[in-house]
Amino acid sequence: MSGSGTCDALRYDNHVHGGRHYSGHSAVYALSELAAEARARGLTISLREHAPFPPEVLAAYPGVLRIREPGTAPVGLSLGQGGNLDEFLADVVETGLPLGFEVDVLPAARWLASSERLAGLLQRRAAAHGLAIDCLNLSHHHPWDMTYGGLNDALAAAGGPAPFLRSHFGDIRTYAATGLFGTASHLEALRKFDRRAPAGPPFACHMDLYREELQLTLAAFHRCNVALEYNTSGSLSWGRPYLSPETLQAAVEMGLRIVIGSDAHSPDRIGFEFERWTEELKAAGVREVFRFERGRAVGMSLGAEP
Ligand SMILES: [Zn+2]
Ligand SMILES: [Zn+2]
Repeated sequence: MSGSGTCDALRYDNHVHGGRHYSGHSAVYALSELAAEARARGLTISLREHAPFPPEVLAAYPGVLRIREPGTAPVGLSLGQGGNLDEFLADVVETGLPLGFEVDVLPAARWLASSERLAGLLQRRAAAHGLAIDCLNLSHHHPWDMTYGGLNDALAAAGGPAPFLRSHFGDIRTYAATGLFGTASHLEALRKFDRRAPAGPPFACHMDLYREELQLTLAAFHRCNVALEYNTSGSLSWGRPYLSPETLQAAVEMGLRIVIGSDAHSPDRIGFEFERWTEELKAAGVREVFRFERGRAVGMSLGAEP
């Protein structure tokens, strides 16, 4: 990297996945390859692997959670017999990579307590390997699984776009209020179909409600001290990171912490388009971005105004 890209803020990627053996849907690579690529490029990468599902949740939805296509592996780490969480943690010790997890936001009325127990289990298992978790990210993938078909199905199951949007963001706010999560990942990933012709996302006629729910959610993050991720992988689908300019502006005005992550699922994607989008962050008035160490947010200056 060179020029403006030499500041620490651009050398820290807060959201990176392990290879397919751990994430289930990454390219095939070893954690050691990821670490070597980061070293070669002068980046520090912090893992945010998909946490396992709580066992009782898996039992309630047999065979359907996070399986993108028939015949492919379920997404994320796993617990129990044949599970790979401990293997992953041993590999993290071996490579020395900073550790965190994406924890799924599930329907809170039924599963919040399970997710809280899971967060405790992750902390204990990490500690048993001599590791500290830098950050748990709350990430809403369920039940729409990030695909257009999945989103359409989720809307239908919820009774339409309006109840879907209310429960989607309501569950995120409930999870934020637990105090277990340092960062909210890809808050506006629902917008990834905005460019889909002719109609855009399947909730396009409810954008006022979408914005209302989003505002309530930002306010909840402010109350609960949850940072907001500026996820550059959005550039691949939406054409920009997963925060709209309006949301970014509202977050800056509220004083929310911003965290940059690539959501890389292959070594060549770490630090994806950080230099390009940092200019937008600076122009929006972001003066520092954050990384996490043992649950504590640490500011890194973005440098002078453009
Ligand atoms: Zn995610
Ligand atoms: Zn991710």
